[in-house]
Amino acid sequence: MSVAGINVLVEETRARTQAAKAPLLSVRGVSTYYGSIRALKGVDLDVSEGEIVALIGANGAGKSTLMMTIFGSPQARDGTITYAGRDITKLPTHEIARLNIAQSPEGRRIFPRMTVRENLQMGASVNGGRHFAEDLERVCTLFPRLKERIDQRGGTMSGGEQQMLAIARALMSRPRLLLLDEPSLGLAPLVVKQIFNAVKELNRTDGLTVFIVEQNAYHALKLAHRGYVMVTGTITMSGTGKALLDNPQVKAAYLEGGQH
Ligand code: ATP
Repeated sequence: MSVAGINVLVEETRARTQAAKAPLLSVRGVSTYYGSIRALKGVDLDVSEGEIVALIGANGAGKSTLMMTIFGSPQARDGTITYAGRDITKLPTHEIARLNIAQSPEGRRIFPRMTVRENLQMGASVNGGRHFAEDLERVCTLFPRLKERIDQRGGTMSGGEQQMLAIARALMSRPRLLLLDEPSLGLAPLVVKQIFNAVKELNRTDGLTVFIVEQNAYHALKLAHRGYVMVTGTITMSGTGKALLDNPQVKAAYLEGGQH
């Protein structure tokens, strides 16, 4: 092989190694506004392939805004969001969804008049409905309750069942990155445990990358490999889930007072 050929090979290998090392999702200096209100103030955050990363913070800190900004609505006014090496900052939501990012939004937002099966079909339609039977089987194994309720209308299910459905619907598109917004909201502790166990299992067995936004700091940090703390639109702390759980400031602000 010529020297030029070897150089090309070396360059390609270097580029591949760098791509492998780069985080799957990278948020840099992101600011998002609602009119003149600056809800996110220069946020930096990374999620690597195969990681579970939690974002915790009080009511109104901007957690959901960050998740929605990653998903393209509202869009960041400043900063950059990179996913799998591609700048997605200004992409519309439907194009972001096609890049194998799926979101289970706050408040679940399932289709209430549709049955469980139809809701799952909607989730699968993002990738053209391929592998529907196989993926249906998979999410029903993960959440057996959905199998029992497969022909029930989504809107008549309990809060916990609707949350399972929202996550299952997101999974039907076979995401590489799952965005979970407040999955524990308003649910009984036992149901929260079931849902978090399911997420852990998906990460362990399929290597699914998860970015989870939670007010329930205890459960989120127990689940996550790494976490970030957000206060009024700014990241104030980050570290492993365990380090944050043990951190006195995190304990005082987010863990004492019966969250868990
Ligand atoms: P929670 O846990 O209560 O959902 P959060 O941390 O997710 O809180 P956001 O919902 O992102 O916080 O809200 C961040 C800030 O942006 C808040 O001050 C909120 O009032 C404001 N905000 C959110 N959505 C809108 C909107 N559509 N229009 C105007 N302001 C908004």
